[in-house]
Amino acid sequence: MTITLEQVNTAPYKEVLALLDGLHEHSPWIAEQALAARPFASLAQLKHAMTVVLRDAGKDAQIKLIQAHPELASKTMVSQSLTAESSNEQSKAGLTKCTPDEFSTIQKLNSDYNAKFGFPFILAVRGTRGDGLTKQQIMAIFERRLRNHPDFELSECLRNIHRVVELRLNDKFGAHPVLGNDVWDWHEQLAQYSDPGYREKGQLTVTYLTEAHRACAAFIVGKMRECGFDDVKIDAVGNVVGVYHAAVPGSKTLLTGSHYDTVRNAGKYDGRLGIFAPMACVRELHRQAKRLPFNIEVVGFAEEEGQRYKATFLGSGALVGDFKPEWLDQKDVDGMPMREAMAHAGLNTADIAGVKRNPDNYLGFVEMHIEQGPVLNELDIPLGIVTSINGNVRYLCEITGVASHAGTTPMNRRRDAASATAELALYLENRAAQDADSVGTMGMLQVPNGSINVVPGRCLFSLDMRAPVDTQRDAMISDVLAELAAICERRGVQHTLELTERAAAAPSAPAWQQRWESAVQRLGVPLYAMPSGAGHDAMKLHKIMPQAMLFVRGQNSGISHNPLESTTSCDIQLAIDAFTHLINALAIDLQ
Ligand SMILES: [Zn+2]
Repeated sequence: MTITLEQVNTAPYKEVLALLDGLHEHSPWIAEQALAARPFASLAQLKHAMTVVLRDAGKDAQIKLIQAHPELASKTMVSQSLTAESSNEQSKAGLTKCTPDEFSTIQKLNSDYNAKFGFPFILAVRGTRGDGLTKQQIMAIFERRLRNHPDFELSECLRNIHRVVELRLNDKFGAHPVLGNDVWDWHEQLAQYSDPGYREKGQLTVTYLTEAHRACAAFIVGKMRECGFDDVKIDAVGNVVGVYHAAVPGSKTLLTGSHYDTVRNAGKYDGRLGIFAPMACVRELHRQAKRLPFNIEVVGFAEEEGQRYKATFLGSGALVGDFKPEWLDQKDVDGMPMREAMAHAGLNTADIAGVKRNPDNYLGFVEMHIEQGPVLNELDIPLGIVTSINGNVRYLCEITGVASHAGTTPMNRRRDAASATAELALYLENRAAQDADSVGTMGMLQVPNGSINVVPGRCLFSLDMRAPVDTQRDAMISDVLAELAAICERRGVQHTLELTERAAAAPSAPAWQQRWESAVQRLGVPLYAMPSGAGHDAMKLHKIMPQAMLFVRGQNSGISHNPLESTTSCDIQLAIDAFTHLINALAIDLQ
């Protein structure tokens, strides 16, 4: 017997409590308090209400709840004192069938963890797809989390409790993220293709026009055809383009998509989520034989990350006429010019200019993307509305002082280039923190030919400064550069600066941001507006048409450009549902 939302909203309180029994380990008070927020518009809203109760309960109650949980594969499992839900979940993960070696490894991890944090390790062992992590995955996560800070680990345990409860609620409601699971699986399937040198190590790397890259394009083409797109092709720069026709020929087009190339040793979701999620929506439209008053065009951009060639945003750039012909002569590390790589892939460089889109044919561009940061994860909110993609400016800098004897040069006579740089690094950190949503990073820092007994005479470093609005970013830059000049003046050292990148901020088009907000509101999950610290394909499309992005929460603190990048099939389902609401609302607007 599955529960319905109607029952939760209307049945007598005690009856509902009985229906929701067993969600939190020996702690029915959380469901009890969450019910004060009845009625719920969606299961997602009920899930969120429970996270709020636990967040507001305070640290003592949180630790008490964590302590009510069994240890992984613990002795209590033998004595059968686990709740039915817990033992079912642990046995799905194979934890009830450990070899003696595995069991003793887990016991050691359990006792180390308990000694460090004072509470048991909690992991949603059913994982991000809900069907169970392997023992090897569980032990790897356990070892990694043992190194965390206690405050972080407390929150991470609570997040895992929320995830356990989410899956238990899905079971009770018979509400499984069917499309989210499919899209989750497509990411796994696409991640099989990886460049040589990485594939052997089980790492994911897909750079422009390699064999793995072309296999990815072919995979996406095949999936688009399966989903029922009417036209599917690979364009002159390697973008995969699928169009699902409108009800009436000659209608305008909604453009969406993201990139399928990756950084080196990447995560599986960066970019790809924004291709697959709308594909799942189109598959549903096709299954229902439903046509909208606009075409839906999904583009898998061939290149965004700038890994093999210095041609970042090549794929989306081609759509706005930003492809630079001189790129064709650029060589990769093996000396292969881009022109040859394109010819080898069967791409016709003469057609590149034709990739450029005419904005008159388009309604706008929307992009779904994994957040790539910790914000949504920390807030227990699955989706984020992007207000602007931060503009960035990058410099490569050098400070020159005097290299002198570390033993004989008194402190007040030094011209120390590294100390001057260090002073600037601290200033940058403080200055960026003064603004909302500004960030400043000194990511490269080097004393060339430095020695242990020489005062640093040169220091090379980088500056990367970003903010949601160009004026805010420029004010930060002028302060940082003024401070650099002042530090150098005071210390008697010289500096040089080379501007290497300057990209304007791309604020979301208000009407399109509003469409995402309405869509997310309809799902019953809280609205959270945030800027994007990372650059995205939407920045390029911003040049010729209105755009707005939707972020999807990442697990593991939202880590990205890292194999630990991860998201749940439940969150993917919510993104798919949000896009479905957006296109349905757009269809009504256009009628
Ligand atoms: Zn990306």
